[in-house]
Formats: sequence, structure tokens, C-alpha cells
Amino acid sequence: MKFVRPESPEAAASSLGNGSVALAGGTDLVPMLRDGLVQADELVFLRDVVPRGVQSGRIGAGTTLAELEVDPELPQALREACAASASPQLRSMGTIGGNLLQATRCWYWRLRFPCYLHGGDRCHARQGTHREHAIFGNDRCASAHPSDPAAALLALGARLQTTRRELPVADLYRLPTEENRNLTALERDELILELDVPTPDASVYLKAMDRRAWSFALVGVAAARFGAETRLALAGVAPVPWLLENPSALEQSTPLPGTAYKVEIARALVRRALASLPTT
Ligand SMILES: Cc1cc2nc3c(=O)[nH]c(=O)nc-3n(C[C@H](O)[C@H](O)[C@H](O)COP(=O)(O)OP(=O)(O)OC[C@H]3O[C@@H](n4cnc5c(N)ncnc54)[C@H](O)[C@@H]3O)c2cc1C
Ligand code: SF4
Repeated sequence: MKFVRPESPEAAASSLGNGSVALAGGTDLVPMLRDGLVQADELVFLRDVVPRGVQSGRIGAGTTLAELEVDPELPQALREACAASASPQLRSMGTIGGNLLQATRCWYWRLRFPCYLHGGDRCHARQGTHREHAIFGNDRCASAHPSDPAAALLALGARLQTTRRELPVADLYRLPTEENRNLTALERDELILELDVPTPDASVYLKAMDRRAWSFALVGVAAARFGAETRLALAGVAPVPWLLENPSALEQSTPLPGTAYKVEIARALVRRALASLPTT
């Protein structure tokens, strides 16, 4: 396998596809290469070409979660979501760009069952073991999006700058369809370069986990208040980060038999998140 260090974001982007894959911190990609979930002839190393650091609310996609969790310039919800992700070692390698694009943790998918997301015709989790799975958007694929920071960025109304366009973080994600099983709208030869994060009046991120640390979210709730409006977004409840229009939208969830408990957790965390936001 070749390892290349491109000299510009454009050169990096244009070399992707046809067996070339972007490598940032490698914390998700390297295990997937090892397990045969991703095939690559060439790894395109992003460190020299994707911006890193925070300036006036703009975050380089190459900034690590460890750097973000301690940056006082950033909204509390994003700092808390980064601090609640993975382990200190993983956070010091893992970048925010890679975090937003990490693959599902659904074990059927990771174990290469020929499920809907792998191009098959059924969701093995729906019929099998699915305690960690979704309560929204789960009719075709019932996986639960693993990123804590993505939910925080969604609640904050962040926008992404890529090598091709600018888009709201909400538009980075899509539910799979018959024709297109991808969970993101990013093109194969498109890189995330920066994130633009608005400053709320107050924000918070709360996470329910099986263990107190180093665990993916059973449910994560981000709340961000901008004046009279409060935006809510959830992690761990749908194949993509999920914007919750208001707390009562939880009553429209479609839990599976094994995920009904997540609705209760989400109700409690939404209540707590809203109560914890200081009023003006
Ligand atoms: C044991 C474990 C526990 C974890 N727990 C959590 C958790 O609780 N919460 C959570 O949110 N996350 C968790 N994670 C995920 C972790 O945060 C991500 O693996 C990490 O942030 C990915 O960043 P990376 O730089 O290592 O990405 P990589 O592994 O290098 O890349 C991941 C993917 O993103 C693509 N990519 C990377 N950067 C870019 C870019 N700028 N533009 C376009 N494509 C890009 C790569 O091609 C690849 O497909 C966990 C991971 C592990 C292994
Ligand atoms: S939840 Fe999605 S990834 Fe998991 S088995 Fe079902 S289709 Fe595959």
C-alpha cells in the first residue's frame, strides 16, 4: 500500500477514489483497513493539507478532539461532546473531520454481514440483536450514529467548508435509499476543510453510556440556545445525527422492541439539558 503526502487540499482531493483513501488520525480508518471493511491501494495523508486549529469560531477539520475539548473559545456543547468521546489517547489522534465521517459501529456491519448498508436487502439488526440501535429513521437501516460532536454541531447550526462547497452540517448526512446506501452526502473526492460554528447564548451536551467513560452514546443530547430559540440534536438514536424539532417530537419516534428504553433516556436527557441552560 502506498502512502502519499499531497501538497495542497486540491491535490489531495483530486487523488481520492479508485483505491485512494483519505487518512487523518487513522483511529477509525486503520481498524477498518485491517478488518477488510475498506480496501485501499493508497493512503492520502491529510495532516499537511487540512487546516488545524481554532480561530474566531472557525475550526480546522484537522483539529483533534483533545484540542477542541479544552478551547475556551468554543461553545460548551461542543467542548463537552468532544470530552465525552472515546478515550484520551483516541481524542489526541482523532480529528473532528474524521469524527464526523466515522463509520457506523453496528456490529453486523463491522462483521461484514451482507446487510442493507453493505448493499444487501435486509437489516440484520432489525430482526436480530439491536439494543444499541435507532429509534428514528430506522426503517431501512437501524444503525445509531456514533458521533457525539456531530450532534453538538447540529444543535449549534454549524456549517462546513469542503474542497467543493459550503453546507450546513445537517446536509452532510442522509438516510440510505434503494439507489444510494451512503449515510453522508460527501463526494468520494471531496474533503472537509473547516467548520464554522456560531456562538450560542448557552449550550450543553449530555450523554448516557453503558460505562461512565470510553463508550459510545446510547443517547446523546445537545441543546443550544440562541435568543428565544433552543435547538436540540441527538446522537445514538438514528443512522444520522438527529435534529429534534422540539421535545414532544420524541413521541413520533419509531423504536424497535430492543430500543424502546432509549426513548425514556432521551426524554430525561432533553428535560435535563433544557433545565440546565441558563435563561437570559
Ligand atoms: C474505541 C473507540 C471508541 C470511540 N468512542 C467514540 C465516542 O464515544 N464518541 C465519538 O464521537 N466518537 C468515538 N470514537 C470515534 C473517534 O472519535 C473517531 O475514530 C475519530 O474522531 C476519527 O478521526 P480520525 O482523524 O482518526 O479519522 P480517520 O480514521 O483518519 O478517518 C475516518 C474517516 O474520515 C475520512 N476523513 C478523515 N478526515 C477527513 C476530511 N477532512 N475530509 C474528508 N474525509 C475525511 C477518512 O477517509 C475515513 O473515512 C471512538 C473510536 C474508537 C476506536
Ligand atoms: S442497522 Fe444498518 S448497518 Fe446494521 S445491520 Fe441493519 S442495515 Fe446493516
